[in-house]
Amino acid sequence: MDFSTATSRPDAIIVGAGLAGLVAAAELIDAGKRVLIVDQEPAASLGGQAWWSFGGIFLVDSPEQRRLGVKDSLELARQDWLASAGFDRDEDSWPRRWAEAYLRFAATEKRAWLRERGIRFFPIVGWAERGGYTAMAHGNSVPRFHITWGTGPGVVSPFIDRVRAGAAAGLVDLRFRHRVDELIVEDGAVVGVRGARLAPDDARRGASSNRDEVDTFDLRAPAVLVTSGGIGGNHDLVRANWPARMGVPPADMLSGVPASVDGRMLAIAETAGARVINQDRMWHYVEGIQNYASVWPLHGIRILPGPSSLWLDATGTRLPVPLFPGFDTLGTLEHIVAGGHSYSWFVLTQRIIEKEFALSGSEQNPDLTDKNLRLLAKRIGKGAPGPVEAFKEKGADFVVANTLDELITGMQGLSPDVVIDADRVRREVEARDREMDNPFAKDAQVNALRQARNYRGDKLIRVASPHRILDPAAGPLIAVKLHILTRKSLGGIETDLEGRALGPDGSPVPGLYAAGEASGFGGGGMHGYRALEGTFLGGCLFSGRQAGRAIAATS
Ligand SMILES: Cc1cc2nc3c(=O)[nH]c(=O)nc-3n(C[C@H](O)[C@H](O)[C@H](O)COP(=O)(O)OP(=O)(O)OC[C@H]3O[C@@H](n4cnc5c(N)ncnc54)[C@H](O)[C@@H]3O)c2cc1C
Repeated sequence: MDFSTATSRPDAIIVGAGLAGLVAAAELIDAGKRVLIVDQEPAASLGGQAWWSFGGIFLVDSPEQRRLGVKDSLELARQDWLASAGFDRDEDSWPRRWAEAYLRFAATEKRAWLRERGIRFFPIVGWAERGGYTAMAHGNSVPRFHITWGTGPGVVSPFIDRVRAGAAAGLVDLRFRHRVDELIVEDGAVVGVRGARLAPDDARRGASSNRDEVDTFDLRAPAVLVTSGGIGGNHDLVRANWPARMGVPPADMLSGVPASVDGRMLAIAETAGARVINQDRMWHYVEGIQNYASVWPLHGIRILPGPSSLWLDATGTRLPVPLFPGFDTLGTLEHIVAGGHSYSWFVLTQRIIEKEFALSGSEQNPDLTDKNLRLLAKRIGKGAPGPVEAFKEKGADFVVANTLDELITGMQGLSPDVVIDADRVRREVEARDREMDNPFAKDAQVNALRQARNYRGDKLIRVASPHRILDPAAGPLIAVKLHILTRKSLGGIETDLEGRALGPDGSPVPGLYAAGEASGFGGGGMHGYRALEGTFLGGCLFSGRQAGRAIAATS
């Protein structure tokens, strides 16, 4: 269907065919509205980041949690969210309201709504961002990270299918290689989009595509929804917005997102009258490893770590309490950056890697992504998952050795720029191992991993039985050089609960809407300063749905 003629105008134009845009489109189609979707990338990249994602979804008090003996509630989730968000700015007014609305969604209809669309969850719920402080500080008090059966493709496919069906029914015009460069404003209202048609490109999913302009376009509709994602693929923007509270931006970073996550639309929306807020709030990871089979520039993969690895800074000193693997992403980032380095180290054993390393990304989890039960059984059995073993063998950041001396020599070989204090590393490892002789200890990390095994999910597949790192039976020893990896933008276009973009005076910019990461997942930053994980896909689902429904109601 071609919606470019005056007689066949769409009811809405959606800029960006990632999860948020597709969810909004599905809502509009369900309401019988006509939608024109433009995306700068080729059709191969339909679905945006969500396709690559691990498919972890934040749910509160789900049947999966209850089956594992986890007692959760909206009150507990709110306590955790607000403690992590730390809202403290005047512009946090809409983000707070979005947080409250999103929490209610996650604790009530979210799971049923997803199940109606055919989405199912792996029975073991993950425990991300454990915090490790006090009850009123950052972190999830209980496991809430529900992995979608089918990972990222499992989340996004039902919405792709709905959009494709809409296209077949004549309700959707889906245009790839259309890069929006301007929002058209007439009489104070956004009435369309202008931009460049880019040359065809057969780049595979996620790979960078050319920016050769072959034509221009000018498309009109009474509502324009911006769902263009965040800024993580644009390191210049990440650096420009890097918050002073996190020190100077690291000299080197990997990219956890494709280059298409370029953040250009934020400035374009600002020019059209929208207010962009909280841009200095971002969510980057500290456990990035270089991909030996890169798809996009500087492609890094995030390790989702269990809690047992010893975490050392670039010089070999152990990170302070409670900066243990999987406890406090941004606290760890701040600590590493304050030390003046852009990497750190995990020191662990083969036994730990087998049970505790997962890699974030649909392509790194073929068992869950392809719903392959035979492969999945291996996760519970002996040996590390195939993709983890492959990184151990081929990855540039792994050192494997039979003795600690050999390991330290290998680590020094991978970081010639910084002197590793070998004696310090030895003392850190030996001191930690002495804490293993009793079932109680002084070492907070040792206590934390013992305590984690009280949760059935952790004991089954996530936390190795406590052992000495220097126990030869648990070997060989492994060190992993961990890079900083850009990923999510927590700030963005300020919106009200209907997804209407707001101007500097707080009133809606007529005709303009925003959802997904471009809107800080709702309101311009519903996470505040820190996230609880699984809330990004969830934020796209919720904010895309809100905006789609609001546009359908007014058009
Ligand atoms: C490897 C990986 C793992 C992840 N795992 C999880 C997880 O387990 N749980 C979780 O909650 N989140 C996860 N995330 C984050 C989550 O996937 C993203 O935050 C979310 O999918 C963003 O969706 P979006 O629709 O807002 O934007 P995007 O997916 O970035 O889509 C935006 C689209 O807009 C297009 N676009 C941008 N600018 C323009 C323009 N000017 N003109 C036309 N088109 C434009 C882009 O080409 C793109 O297709 C993960 C992300 C990655 C990369």
